Amino acid sequence: MKREHYKRVLLKLSGEALAGEAGYGIDTDVLDVIANEVKEIHLSGTEVAIVVGGGNIFRGVKGAIKGMDRASADYMGMLATVMNCLALQDALERKNVYTRVQSAIEMRALAEPYIRRKAIRHLEKNRVVIFAAGVGSPYFTTDTTAALRAMEMGCQVLLKATSVDGIYTADPKLNKDATRFEEISYMEVLQKGLKVMDSTAISLCMDNKLPIIVFNLKDRGSMSRVVKGQQIGTLVHV
Ligand code: UDP
Repeated sequence: MKREHYKRVLLKLSGEALAGEAGYGIDTDVLDVIANEVKEIHLSGTEVAIVVGGGNIFRGVKGAIKGMDRASADYMGMLATVMNCLALQDALERKNVYTRVQSAIEMRALAEPYIRRKAIRHLEKNRVVIFAAGVGSPYFTTDTTAALRAMEMGCQVLLKATSVDGIYTADPKLNKDATRFEEISYMEVLQKGLKVMDSTAISLCMDNKLPIIVFNLKDRGSMSRVVKGQQIGTLVHV
């Protein structure tokens, strides 16, 4: 599959991506670096929608393991994403990038409610749209949210930011012989159980032929190179 200079992308940032070395909470220096990268692709003329996770603050599954009601724990996870979204919005706006946060759970004092057509209009007007609170329902993840919103927004590609430079045959941090895939099919990702995104998210992308590019957020400038169609990371497609 040929890569291109993408005109509209959905960027998925996990909660951990905002946490930095501490592994939890929000690291403002890391946020600053991410905001610079987003600003760069935005200035290059690409419309940017972002889904942010909440794993740096709270995950529903972890709460459920400790005996909490899973749905209640998931709502807490969704609230965690809202904090991350507001932090990212602040970091971007300090760099004069206009943004809007839309939340799947209504919180009118701090974010617009999610309205698909309005979100598309924001993108057309060159505002970065940040989607908070996942899909608004428990038992889902922000990876699935990213796949769903990418399709709803008519994005050409889902950019999955991680801490490794693509998808490997095994965990490259544990196995030195692991090799990176330049391209891989959705089906192979599912069959091999590769930890890219959860299976619901991969299936949704597969059913709707939405390409995914997995890339390393920690490589400075990688976001911009991916958006310009350079062959870095791993492309997941049909
Ligand atoms: N969550 C949810 N529904 C959604 C999205 C998220 O219930 O549509 C909850 C779920 O508990 C999840 C938490 O929010 O564990 C944080 O999201 P996620 O784990 O996807 O964040 P990430 O791994 O990207 O940091």
